[in-house]
Amino acid sequence: MNSIYNYTKEELENYFKEIGESKFRADQVFDWLYIKRIKAFDEMTNLKKDLIKYLKEHLSTDRLKLVTVQKDLDVRKYLFELYDGNKIEAVLMNHDYGNSLCVSTQVGCNMGCRFCESGRLKKLRNLNAFELVLQILAVEEDIDERISHVVLMGIGEPFDNYDNVMRFINIINDPKGINIGIRHITISTCGLVPKIREFTNEKTGVNLAISLHAPNDEIRNKIMPINKAYKVNDIIDAVKDYIKVTNRRVTFEYILLKGVNDTPKCAKELASLLKGLNCYVNLIPYNETSHIEYKTSDKVTINRFYDILKESNINVTIRREFGSKVSAACGQLRSEQISKGEI
Ligand code: SAH
Repeated sequence: MNSIYNYTKEELENYFKEIGESKFRADQVFDWLYIKRIKAFDEMTNLKKDLIKYLKEHLSTDRLKLVTVQKDLDVRKYLFELYDGNKIEAVLMNHDYGNSLCVSTQVGCNMGCRFCESGRLKKLRNLNAFELVLQILAVEEDIDERISHVVLMGIGEPFDNYDNVMRFINIINDPKGINIGIRHITISTCGLVPKIREFTNEKTGVNLAISLHAPNDEIRNKIMPINKAYKVNDIIDAVKDYIKVTNRRVTFEYILLKGVNDTPKCAKELASLLKGLNCYVNLIPYNETSHIEYKTSDKVTINRFYDILKESNINVTIRREFGSKVSAACGQLRSEQISKGEI
């Protein structure tokens, strides 16, 4: 059965029109679901009894099952069970500017990045839009606060689940619903170039982040198999077009892996690759995981890399580490559950 949380407001208006109801019902239903946060159609007291009966027969209001929450200072990691028994994770980060939720977009991931723990389990399926929406509702219910920012940086490749992801964004951005500002939403991709181009043309206003992690094909091929399909220069070309069309700044994520991509030569190469682009680089100290041989670069190396970019007039920050105690940091999702045989 489809979920009521899978509908954009426009789709819900059409749904009601098709069953001979006023499209205004969509506003009422959105109000119940996303403002009043009811959990069953029976609670929608301004709908007629026979309409409630019809909705109950055709659509589900089921939420995600919360399995565990792990807390570590300003981070909470959530493990959810989906209707088919699969499990996914979401990570809440409490920043000074608000609550940011990192959502998963797929069960597993097929991109196979060598350094990423989450990708050790191949993709079992895409998440539906409603399963993304419900991650937000579940976390807001748990903390009894609003989520202000959403990053699509959990398990999965968002652009490998494009349609559901775009639908999700439409639903959570609706001013009559959860109302998360479009500029408070960030999609991160490992570089699926055709999808970057499609995304560009939609001009959504959503932030784009690219997991680059290497300044050239030689290194990128070794750590990210997707680079065999889309080369560094293909990505840069697509990003240039994105900036031209949207006039938005792009974020490049760059994990520093000891001895792999962290030399001064790499930093200089990265600086010349990104020269003149409206972008900033987010340097990510690698979170080591027990099953993967890559190591974190030491502090001196990280700082030297940062300085070289800075001196070349590239906007750059070093990402503060979140949640490593609860294995909630980037690339660590799933690992504990896999080890314990829970997933
Ligand atoms: N598939 C998308 C969304 C995942 S975002 C993408 O690749 O962008 C998760 C981010 O964490 C990516 O930038 C990923 O490369 C990074 N990451 C993966 N493993 C990591 C690790 N062990 N330490 C730090 N960052 C990691």
